[in-house]
Amino acid sequence: MSAVTETIRIDAATPVQGCLTKMAIAPGAMGEAVRYTLRVGEQRLDLNARLGRPLALEWTGAIACTHCGRATKKSFAQGYCYPCFRKLAQCDTCIMKPELCHYFEGTCREPEWGERHCFQPHVVYLANASGLKVGITRRTQVPTRWLDQGAVQALPILEVDTRQQSGFVEVLFKEEVSDRTNWRAMLKGDTEPMDLVAERDRLLARLEGGLANLRERFGTEAIRTLDEAPVAFDYPVLEFPTKVVSHNLDKHPEVAGTLLGLKGQYLILDSGVINLRKFTGYEVGVS
Ligand SMILES: [Zn+2]
Repeated sequence: MSAVTETIRIDAATPVQGCLTKMAIAPGAMGEAVRYTLRVGEQRLDLNARLGRPLALEWTGAIACTHCGRATKKSFAQGYCYPCFRKLAQCDTCIMKPELCHYFEGTCREPEWGERHCFQPHVVYLANASGLKVGITRRTQVPTRWLDQGAVQALPILEVDTRQQSGFVEVLFKEEVSDRTNWRAMLKGDTEPMDLVAERDRLLARLEGGLANLRERFGTEAIRTLDEAPVAFDYPVLEFPTKVVSHNLDKHPEVAGTLLGLKGQYLILDSGVINLRKFTGYEVGVS
């Protein structure tokens, strides 16, 4: 099934209810803005088509674990029930901090999952979402990861064999550059374009010694310098907020306003912004 036939356009006359998953974000065709699809249960809503129009989300009070589907009173790690949060390798600390990978100690929560997800090529990249940052992601998650972060520019700089190695490289780069996005700054939309190729060359020169140490440890071929072209993304935003106020379904189950834009995993409404990823698994009605 193609992405086009999968996208069902829903207007205000068609109520939709289901559990939220993070929005599907795809690069736009040449010269076009990024494409956003809201995912509510099995239903899909083309959000680019909703720009400038009213949009309302109402939380029913129910949350379903994104992994096992069980009802949970509270969401852990953006969409899991507590047992899954404790049990799954994808909810372990080493996913956020891959340098803490403990597979080789025989304590991976799910060794088979780890082999599939962590022992495969990872990319270390520079991105500009609210200024320069370094990040890591699985090769297969490019460019999704950048779009989820609201990056306006990105450049893969190194490729490594495993997630753990990407963690060590990122720790090294953190001596020189942040690994965080300032989401308020990202949503204000005044991010200045940067020369990511020049930043890459500067950082690679500066961190040469540290990279040589890692190559000595993991093998020269394990950490490969990439020579790729930077990419840029244009987000569908009619108007950026001057003051960033965020909605929280836990405090106010009803969120409504005119949809002014989409950036990262945020909806920008005239009444405030909402990070939909944070509410993965929340059952909502959309109108
Ligand atoms: Zn669960």
